[in-house]
Amino acid sequence: MKHFKRELDHIERWKDLRKDLFRNEEPQIKLIGMTTPTEEMISLGVTTETLPAYTARQSHESAGTYEDDLNLNKKLISWGHQTCLEAVQFVYYVTGVSKSLAGQWTRHRIGIGWTFRSTRYVKASKNTFIYPALEYIDSEDVVRSAYGAYEREHKRAIEVYDELKELGIRNQELRRLMPVGWSTAAYVYVNARSLRHFFELRLDKSAEWEIRRLAYMMFDSVMGIAPTLFEDLAGEIL
Ligand SMILES: Cc1cc2nc3c(=O)[nH]c(=O)nc-3n(C[C@H](O)[C@H](O)[C@H](O)COP(=O)(O)OP(=O)(O)OC[C@H]3O[C@@H](n4cnc5c(N)ncnc54)[C@H](O)[C@@H]3O)c2cc1C
Repeated sequence: MKHFKRELDHIERWKDLRKDLFRNEEPQIKLIGMTTPTEEMISLGVTTETLPAYTARQSHESAGTYEDDLNLNKKLISWGHQTCLEAVQFVYYVTGVSKSLAGQWTRHRIGIGWTFRSTRYVKASKNTFIYPALEYIDSEDVVRSAYGAYEREHKRAIEVYDELKELGIRNQELRRLMPVGWSTAAYVYVNARSLRHFFELRLDKSAEWEIRRLAYMMFDSVMGIAPTLFEDLAGEIL
């Protein structure tokens, strides 16, 4: 987990320089819902985390303690018996991500879905931009200059947006002016199995920085809820 924190810190090394940039927005995630067992199951000691193992016991009609089920979760994952992970669904509210990220994220088709903010129905006056992390650049001066250039371009995009809006052009056409760094927000519905697949692909250093940053944030969140369903993936961040 230390390596994962170090990676996220590295991506965020220039975060302070972005604070006052024009319409800057940083990513945030908020868990707003997740599968919880029924009262009857809770009274038997079943939790969100142990639901997969508890249901998987059907195959041998076996029974186990809470600790047994935590261990069984890990075994099921190592055996590739992962259908039971679909027992657990998470709902997150994600803000401060770019249209570029949305394009990558929505390529994941199985066990995951979204409701995104519409750029037809929501005015651009509410919209913000996601500035790149530029974590691979060591010179603060260069990063400041680069952020300045992005800032100029974002201001220009909004100016032209407002100009065309005055002419009566509708949101659905105005949005075409916006760069892929334009922000969006979404509710995402994802089950634990699919989330593992997302992590396998997007925690990896080969993944693009913004979706990797989001994957780190979500990984950190679910590790606080159901570590046995995800902890084996921590090694992949090395
Ligand atoms: C580092 C990186 C770079 C990438 N670069 C590009 C790029 O340059 N261009 C580009 O277009 N995309 C790119 N992608 C996107 C990538 O090709 C996948 O579309 C994306 O990662 C979703 O993965 P997935 O299909 O496994 O996930 P999901 O769609 O969630 O599918 C999950 C799993 O279900 C199975 N599955 C799903 N659908 C089918 C199906 N129709 N038939 C058979 N099995 C299926 C597969 O086992 C799949 O792994 C990149 C992804 C990564 C991580």
